Amino acid sequence: MLTCDFCGRREDDEAAVLRWSTAVEDGRRHRYCETCSREHLRSMEGKLAPEHW
Ligand SMILES: [Zn+2]
Repeated sequence: MLTCDFCGRREDDEAAVLRWSTAVEDGRRHRYCETCSREHLRSMEGKLAPEHW
């Protein structure tokens, strides 16, 4: 089971978890659900190079 580090959503469906993203920032691993991955990616594109994606 994974917990989204952005919205706190929990997912235990393996098929759904495959669509989650992992980002490493400052040596810490963050997990983002499918929805947050999309939104986070969109906001990242405007600011930083998407090196973690
Ligand atoms: Zn989320």
